[in-house]
Amino acid sequence: MSTDPKASAASAVSTDNASGSNFLRGLIESDLASGKYQQRTDILGRPLPAVITRFPPEPNGYLHIGHAKAICVDFGLARDFGGRCHMRFDDTNPTKEEQEYVDTILDSVKWLGFDWKDESGEHLYFASDYFGKFYEIAEYLITAGHAYVDSQSAEDMAKNRGNFGEPGKNSPFRDRPAQESLDLFRRMKAGEFKDGEHILRARIDMASPNMNLRDPAIYRIRHAHHHRTGDKWCIYPMYDFAHPLEDAIESVSHSFCTLEFQDHRPFYDWVLERAAEGGFFKRPLPEQTEFARLNLTYAITSKRKLRQLIDESIVDGWDDPRMPTIVGLRRRGYTPESIQLFCERVGVAKADSWIDMSTLEGALRDDLDAKAPRATAVLKPLKLIIDNFPDNLVDECSAPVHPHHPERGQRHFPITKELWIEADDFMEVPSKGYFRLFPGNKVRLRYGYVVECTACDKDDNGNVVAVHCNYFPDSKSGTDGANNYKVKGNIHWVSATHALEAEVRLYDRLFTDAHPDAGGKDFMAALNPAAKEVITAYLEHGMRAALPDDKFQFERHGYFVADRVDSQPGKPVFNRVVTLKDSWGK
Ligand code: ATP
Ligand code: MG
Repeated sequence: MSTDPKASAASAVSTDNASGSNFLRGLIESDLASGKYQQRTDILGRPLPAVITRFPPEPNGYLHIGHAKAICVDFGLARDFGGRCHMRFDDTNPTKEEQEYVDTILDSVKWLGFDWKDESGEHLYFASDYFGKFYEIAEYLITAGHAYVDSQSAEDMAKNRGNFGEPGKNSPFRDRPAQESLDLFRRMKAGEFKDGEHILRARIDMASPNMNLRDPAIYRIRHAHHHRTGDKWCIYPMYDFAHPLEDAIESVSHSFCTLEFQDHRPFYDWVLERAAEGGFFKRPLPEQTEFARLNLTYAITSKRKLRQLIDESIVDGWDDPRMPTIVGLRRRGYTPESIQLFCERVGVAKADSWIDMSTLEGALRDDLDAKAPRATAVLKPLKLIIDNFPDNLVDECSAPVHPHHPERGQRHFPITKELWIEADDFMEVPSKGYFRLFPGNKVRLRYGYVVECTACDKDDNGNVVAVHCNYFPDSKSGTDGANNYKVKGNIHWVSATHALEAEVRLYDRLFTDAHPDAGGKDFMAALNPAAKEVITAYLEHGMRAALPDDKFQFERHGYFVADRVDSQPGKPVFNRVVTLKDSWGK
């Protein structure tokens, strides 16, 4: 059994909930109707919005598609209800956090199309800025009898915690006088003790059926350097203690998080109630509401597991186009709009479910189909020689930049005696129903002429190395003569003398198993060996001008993007974003 609450929650269900409904909207609407969070003011007496949310990542890795859902929920709902969303780093754990992660997270949120600045200011916060406040509240809890310093060993503490169905045992230190706890806590802060020697715990109920209420730890000793506070502190608050306080300090109204925090909500409320009693916060207090985390088929959404893929060199880094990280999706060619569209379609449910990868890919196709200019690319090249074409003639053909947007104009490209066509657009002996090139058959060279296949050349091993044909000079697309030719096949091509030779990376899903890590499975056993194939392709010559991040539909093949890292001026490298149709597993 996995002890990771996320993994078990994810494996328990398997239905695709692509309803697009969002119960959190209903919740906010009813809070607005009851006026619950209206009439609040900040410390200077200025009115506060009735909807304040926050997106609170821990800066310990790169954001992934699951975080994108949380971002769309937190930032999107605040925007929709005229409120604001705080960008907050939950950086209370010193050992795993780094500035590099802070930078990439900010960059990813902005790229997705959200902003933490508004007329009221810049709402970028760091939980570590509240360490002083957390400490003050902890001292208050000790004084008020709600917390004590426990000096049991870690083993005893774990043993005395009990189990599900078996109550815990009170620590022998539970009833030590508040003054003694306070003194020890101050000495913990002063650095007099080693890691683990003492811990500050809330005094709640060791017999609670909710394990999270069995005197949870709220402060621990950790002699560690923090990426922002340096060596100022050697005690750090626990997440469950810090998080509600962060929300209250920032006057958050709606604190949305994923379902695995449901059992933590009673403690969230406990912390806020005690702090409010102590006069630290005014009511109404923030309220936590849990929603289903995003589980995407053929992908994993856990920073720890994604890191393993990098550490074991399965992928080339956080921004590898096969990664479900925001930086990976961006490099792969996903647009912010497609990810927002995906999140809208997925909706927000109260129960965990798996969302099919095809939902994400579908949103991407829908977004790119309308935007991406068309171009021609030959991915598996075979030479086509038009024997009756004048040797040095360079004739110009043209095609629309976008078939549904004539206002975007035409693109022009040359046709010459020697072309590249797709190897599978020729068969020496055609199979049944094959309409493309074979000796004696006519096809249209898309946007060019009709040609009739005559023969092919083979190497010593019998492999076809070139195809021969003759063209009909009066058959050019767009001319009157074109209509005199009725052919079934229509194939794409590029001029062999003018085409751009380019590296193209054909990406596919990283895993072959739809649920690679469900139920504690070894996801490393489900890697798709064909997730990346690097080829040399021939592209329409205009692709020389493609800039990093430019996206195109290579006709008949799919959507491609000029890689933002490896493309050079005049020498783009292309990534396949997604194929034209969902053919996975078919
Ligand atoms: P991971 O398990 O990958 O480490 P995390 O939950 O620890 O993720 P945080 O940085 O703490 O990552 O998450 C920031 C916010 O994003 C939290 O509110 C968290 O609930 C949310 N979040 C993380 N993963 C998902 C997901 N798969 N679907 C929806 N929201 C998510
Ligand atoms: Mg976390």
